[in-house]
Amino acid sequence: MIKLHDTYFKPFLSEEEILSAVQNIADKIAIDYKDETPVFVGVLNGAFMFVSDFLKAYQHPCEVSFVKLSSYRGLTSTGIVETLLDVPENIDGKSVIILEDIIDTGRTLQELVHLFSNTNVKEFKIASLFYKPDIYNGEYTIDYVGMEIPNKFIVGYGLDYKELGRNLKEVYQLNQRHMINLVL
Ligand code: 5GP
Repeated sequence: MIKLHDTYFKPFLSEEEILSAVQNIADKIAIDYKDETPVFVGVLNGAFMFVSDFLKAYQHPCEVSFVKLSSYRGLTSTGIVETLLDVPENIDGKSVIILEDIIDTGRTLQELVHLFSNTNVKEFKIASLFYKPDIYNGEYTIDYVGMEIPNKFIVGYGLDYKELGRNLKEVYQLNQRHMINLVL
């Protein structure tokens, strides 16, 4: 059990389980894009660890860039998605694969689709390390999913709880039994 601010989280996924999910995504994309040089676009801040391990697992020609959006405050979404770092330049005619840490309601994904709809990319695909199918209510089909997880708040491996926990190499899940102490 770990404590971040006043909230307790229990172990959920080991480093090994996470890296195996990352490798699976990289292997699938390597097959699908064997004759192409895709542009991977990581979604900051949460996806930085995923992007790093993904690129180590994907040893083929590719470009790398980032966008930055923000929607979560604490344990629940504010519903507001801001664009803090816009789409990369010179991506027209290229195949773009978004690298997301987690897809929850799909609101951020919707914003990403909207951002790239103003470009002339050849193809637009989404890879998400974690995906919560029970809460997702978007229209877009996620092209590459590392792992489907229950609708519970997680931290670690890039994902934060009020800015803490991003550096943890494992993933932890909110311990509901300690919710009584929550300060949102
Ligand atoms: P959505 O827009 O799909 O509802 O949420 C996507 C964003 O919310 C993610 O990029 C991530 O920043 C944040 N998020 C969603 N679920 C979780 C979670 O379980 N833990 C953490 N730490 N952030 C989450």
